[in-house]
Amino acid sequence: MVKGSFKLHTPIAKRLLILIVGASTLFALVSVAVQLAFNFSGAVKNAERWVDEYNQANMAAIERAIWDVDYQLLDELLQGFVQQQYVATVNLSSGDGISLGIGDANLNQKFYVYMLSYRERDIGQLTVGLDLSLIKQDIAEQALVILLTNGLKTFLMSLIILLLLGRLVTGDLRRLAEAADQIFTEEQQIVQLPSKLIQRNDEIGLVASSMQQLQQRLQRGLDARLEAEQQLHQHRQILEETVEQRTALLNWQTEANQLLSEISLSFLNQTPRNSKALLQRATSAIGSLFSVERVVILEFERQQAIYRDVWSVPGHLAPIEPIDLSQLSELKRRLVNVAPIVVNDVEKIKRQAKEEYKLLKQHGIKSFAGFPLSDGNKAFGLLNCVSLSYCALWDEHQIALLGQFAAAISGLLIQEKNALAMARLQNELLQVNERLQVLAETDELTGLVNRRPFKRELNRAIASARRHRSQIAVMMADIDYFKAYNDRYGHLQGDEALKLVAKALSSVVKRSEDCVARVGGEEFAILLSDVNQQDLPQMAERIVQEVSAQNIEHQGSQISEVLTISLGGILVEPDDVLDPTNLLEMADTCLYKAKHQGRNRAVLDLDV
Ligand code: GH3
Ligand code: MG
Ligand code: MG
Repeated sequence: MVKGSFKLHTPIAKRLLILIVGASTLFALVSVAVQLAFNFSGAVKNAERWVDEYNQANMAAIERAIWDVDYQLLDELLQGFVQQQYVATVNLSSGDGISLGIGDANLNQKFYVYMLSYRERDIGQLTVGLDLSLIKQDIAEQALVILLTNGLKTFLMSLIILLLLGRLVTGDLRRLAEAADQIFTEEQQIVQLPSKLIQRNDEIGLVASSMQQLQQRLQRGLDARLEAEQQLHQHRQILEETVEQRTALLNWQTEANQLLSEISLSFLNQTPRNSKALLQRATSAIGSLFSVERVVILEFERQQAIYRDVWSVPGHLAPIEPIDLSQLSELKRRLVNVAPIVVNDVEKIKRQAKEEYKLLKQHGIKSFAGFPLSDGNKAFGLLNCVSLSYCALWDEHQIALLGQFAAAISGLLIQEKNALAMARLQNELLQVNERLQVLAETDELTGLVNRRPFKRELNRAIASARRHRSQIAVMMADIDYFKAYNDRYGHLQGDEALKLVAKALSSVVKRSEDCVARVGGEEFAILLSDVNQQDLPQMAERIVQEVSAQNIEHQGSQISEVLTISLGGILVEPDDVLDPTNLLEMADTCLYKAKHQGRNRAVLDLDV
């Protein structure tokens, strides 16, 4: 409310004034009217009394004068009447014809008639007229005075009442209103009401102290509301902060999970060759995600921990020297449990893990979170997130996530180990296979190759000869009368003879592109690459002679003292039609011929 609105249309004083003036005017009018009526009748009665008194005093004289017909006396006496106040007229009439009248007959009068008698005889009547107008005039004059007096009295009373009202009521009421108007404005909250108002022992005092209490109640209410608002504000702030933190955590977790899935996925398709690059990517990603200064992947080998990968923020040199685990009994004890090892402040492990503390201090580590890399049973390494310049606080989300990263890295390293083991195994298998194949393709007795590799070599030689348009020779050799040899010298001796024959053949056929094979019990096949018509017969002859030159006694032979062979061979320039089987068959035909022609000889077909 503004002060201007205190200009009231009907203030109490005005209304009271109207009330007092109206009431007192009404009262004055009524009382004046009553007073005037009373005065009027009093004045009339006075006048009557005076007339009566005058009449009684002069009646006898008037009656005598009438009797005596003394007009002069009568006139004097009647004049005396008229002299009386308010007597307007006096009329006298007698039986004997006397008629006297004094005064103005036109006035508004009230008449009094007195009967006259003398010596008990009626002699006439006297009529006295009182002037009512004059009485009324006097009364009216009196009324004016009364009215003026009453009016002045009312005015003075009103003034006094107004003054008192202003002083005692309306002034204080206005002050109260002004004070109330100041309550809870911008300038002030509580208005201290004048103690004069509060201490008053009347209704205004009551209103003032009620207002004071109301202010206090309002203040208390307002204080409570303010407090509630403050609390609400604080709650809202806390809520906003919590939401912000949760959102940040959620974003971080989403990012972390994404990274984890990316890394796990890339680990799935790894080969042992790119695992180094994958580990590097993983450690640097973990380092920046968890805001640590170093991420280390260690692998345990006997009593040592070897750095598989280290990521460090720029400015920190990464350690490379293997760590000796033999003294770190506390670490080993913890690793047995395959549970995370989180140390927020290394100073706290000073007593319980002296050796570990020494090592951590050596590396300048302030805090770390280590996660065993394991195959599910045993820790074979450690993923370690390290803080060098401050003590990090690891929360449960981070620990859980790091555990998952450690699991992924464990998987990668296990995969790598498995892949390496598999490669080693494959290598070994290949070697064994090779050995087996060599064994399978080698004749145990003579050490020569058998039919299959011979055919393979023959195919190769055919292809090569085709390319170079050169000739090859295929020969078959068979020991003569070998059944008889066995029969005579025994099977074991027979084997020894076979070995000697093989040796003899090999000593002639030495070039790497040539080949001697044992293709049957006592049959041999010979391949000579890049030979011609001139050289082949000499070679064949040398082979046959080299066997007999072994001088192996053979009593059972029908053609010689010593063991001999027969040889059949062909010389060809290979074409599309001839295959190894054909060539061997053709050589065999020549061998048959050699046998047939007496054995211990070579039969060659040089024109195939
Ligand atoms: P020919 O001059 O016509 O070739 O007469 P041969 O007796 O040599 O011919 P035959 O085919 O009748 O006999 C071959 C013999 O070779 C029969 C067998 O006892 C002997 N023999 C085959 N393989 C082996 C072997 O590995 N060790 C021994 N000791 N003897 C073998
Ligand atoms: Mg034979
Ligand atoms: Mg034979």
